[in-house]
Amino acid sequence: MATLTRVKVLNPANPNKATAIFGGEASGILNWNDLAHPHFYTLRQRIRSLFWTANEVDMTQDVKQFASLTQEEQSAFLKIIGLLATLDGPQTVIAMKIADFTTDPSVKSILATIADQESEHNHSYAYVLSSVTNLDKQMAAFEMGRTDEVLMKRNERIVEVYNEFAENPTIETVLKAMVYTTLLEGLFFYSGFAFFYNLARHQKMVGTSTMISYINRDELQHGKAISDIFRAALAENPEYNTDEFTEWIYDQFRHSVEQEVIWSRYVLAGIDGLELDEMEGYVKYRANKMLRMLGLSEIYPEFTDNPMKWIRAYVDNFDDTKTDFFEQTSRQYVKTSDLNGFDDL
Ligand code: ZN
Ligand code: ZN
Repeated sequence: MATLTRVKVLNPANPNKATAIFGGEASGILNWNDLAHPHFYTLRQRIRSLFWTANEVDMTQDVKQFASLTQEEQSAFLKIIGLLATLDGPQTVIAMKIADFTTDPSVKSILATIADQESEHNHSYAYVLSSVTNLDKQMAAFEMGRTDEVLMKRNERIVEVYNEFAENPTIETVLKAMVYTTLLEGLFFYSGFAFFYNLARHQKMVGTSTMISYINRDELQHGKAISDIFRAALAENPEYNTDEFTEWIYDQFRHSVEQEVIWSRYVLAGIDGLELDEMEGYVKYRANKMLRMLGLSEIYPEFTDNPMKWIRAYVDNFDDTKTDFFEQTSRQYVKTSDLNGFDDL
């Protein structure tokens, strides 16, 4: 199988408009009005419009409240931040690695924007933890990804697929890595997100949940962008669009749903207000959604609608609903960051 080569920075002998997303030719000069896939312009604009930084979110209430959470809530809080830090951190790297091998400069640019947001997500987990707990517990949360058995088992295939692409970049391994990126952006984070929204609807840890809603909003756009790039790349390489590959994707989704359900039952047991069967339905609903984005069929016909209705107020679809709990409370949102004034730079 042909190995993809790292793309040169500039290659003036090639045309400005890329001839393919992977394995094509392009000069490296990017003109947004002359794209092989014109709709990629909108993908980047949507992601760019979501800019935020962790330090803007006021954590003063959360700092006071954390100690008053139940033991189960505190433990789940730290474990879920540990999970998010484990899975979301590598998203910066995978975006940059895919960017190294794409021959379409518009895709490179979209991935650069995604990588930047992912690096802020990673920072925000450290910011949240340093606000609510001591250094030992912060360190322990970040160690989970390499010490917690359940978490490691859950992440086994992600590690395998991402590392396979890193060590052996081909059309097939990059397509598979993008399937997993879609799974991360659109499914793996969501039982964790739900935990924080459940706290928020009980007026707990609203600062953290506000931040999570910003991350969630980013992830929805990333999932959309990556699945669009995936579909375009697959259309350019029809020899990979086989029954075998489709079956591989369905298998990864089924496996991921199983892992996510096991994980949610492990980490969310005993949390007031979260119904674990409902959570399982929500995970399956998310899987259906992401499969549709990849151009495939739903595999959980009983979960075409969101069974966890209350969560809609917090997320679900920022695109086509105005109901955004955190925006409604934006008057209480205080910027604590003092980074204004170019004179200081
Ligand atoms: Zn992220
Ligand atoms: Zn993302």
